Amino acid sequence: MMNNAFSRPANAIHYELLHQTPLGPQHVSSSGTATFLIEEKLERQSQLAIKVGDEVQTGQKIAPFADRPAYFVSSVTGTVAAVHPQTGDFGKQYTAIEVTLSETEELAEGPETLEPTLTCLNEWLAGTPGKPPLHLFEAVDHGIHTLVVAGVDADLLVATNQYIIKSEMHAINRGIDVLKEATGVGSVAIAVPRDLVQGFGHTSADTLKAVAPEYPAAQPRLIVYEAFGQEIPAEKSCEEMGYAFFSAEAVASIGKAFDSGRLPYEKTLTLVDKNGRKNIISARIGTPIADVLAAHRIETGHKDRLILGGPMTGFAIYDEQAPIEADTDAILVQDAADVSLVSDYPCVNCGECVRVCPTRVPVNMLVRFLEAGQYEDGAELYDLYSCVDCGLCSFVCIARIPIFQYIRLAKYELSRLTEAEASDAQ
Ligand code: SF4
Ligand code: SF4
Repeated sequence: MMNNAFSRPANAIHYELLHQTPLGPQHVSSSGTATFLIEEKLERQSQLAIKVGDEVQTGQKIAPFADRPAYFVSSVTGTVAAVHPQTGDFGKQYTAIEVTLSETEELAEGPETLEPTLTCLNEWLAGTPGKPPLHLFEAVDHGIHTLVVAGVDADLLVATNQYIIKSEMHAINRGIDVLKEATGVGSVAIAVPRDLVQGFGHTSADTLKAVAPEYPAAQPRLIVYEAFGQEIPAEKSCEEMGYAFFSAEAVASIGKAFDSGRLPYEKTLTLVDKNGRKNIISARIGTPIADVLAAHRIETGHKDRLILGGPMTGFAIYDEQAPIEADTDAILVQDAADVSLVSDYPCVNCGECVRVCPTRVPVNMLVRFLEAGQYEDGAELYDLYSCVDCGLCSFVCIARIPIFQYIRLAKYELSRLTEAEASDAQ
């Protein structure tokens, strides 16, 4: 179980509020290629329904596998240059489709009609900016009673969804109306920073929920706890308890598609440079991150670090050609001097990780099991699943143990075990 109340340390870190809405996001164009990643393992080229040399158009829906429904919507016009397997974090397998851009753009015909049904949303909009998690409503007995539109960003320095909630309320309201009709969900709430609740304009949502400014109050489990007064048991997810979280951008994408009849592919994201300066930018899904850096004259040197996401929970990447994906909310560039290195020092039992943990996980004990690869024991004995993935334990660890990396790996490995057991049982 989550350990009673969410605890806030006296020296809490605060989210930064986006006080002024920056003028329109600064658009970044791709310099010549776009790459689309599909979460499917490519074993043989003969599985593919596309090949090198095929032409694609902007807005075209492409299902690269002959025998699987997974698809992407091309954000560019061009020629398929390569299709290859790609390995992501923790060994996750993807298929990458690289497209070389043509000089002229051709717009594909969109869907003939978009209907407010789950089938139609799944068929066309699952990969749009914000990556709407429509699969949460797929099971007949899904039990979702509340859809929460997150107008907050869970990590520090990221302002993408705050920006969307301030600038795209019309599209969000339309998206909420569509989602209500398509899913039949009983209630829709918008979660916004506490300071924005006063004076919030018209909304199609049933309620507004204020999110406290102390990190990590914008993590979904803590929003459910603080705003809805419901504790999510450690072994359950928010969706299992009836709460589906959609980012404000995901909902706005659905609204825009229904307003325009076209599939959106322009992603909004926060770019944080080495000096901590924040820019809200937009780029087409598939644009290489190198193009974003070049457009903002950011050069990376030896040992500088590129992080997708925020400073507490983001993932470091090592290839500037990696593409912007439908759920890339932030790019953070860290100067080598600011990168805190991990070490192989042992835990000195200072207790800081336990004191800072908002859900009071006995992190110092848990990490010993996780370091030894004893994930199941760690979960059973030391409350792994009460962790809300905030990264504060790693941030304060004086021995610089990559605690949060161990936690993520453990959760990933345990989820694979559960999946394997479920498929064996079938
Ligand atoms: S990441 Fe660490 S500090 Fe945060 S909830 Fe999990 S165990 Fe606690
Ligand atoms: S903060 Fe690091 S050194 Fe201190 S108890 Fe936790 S794991 Fe050990």
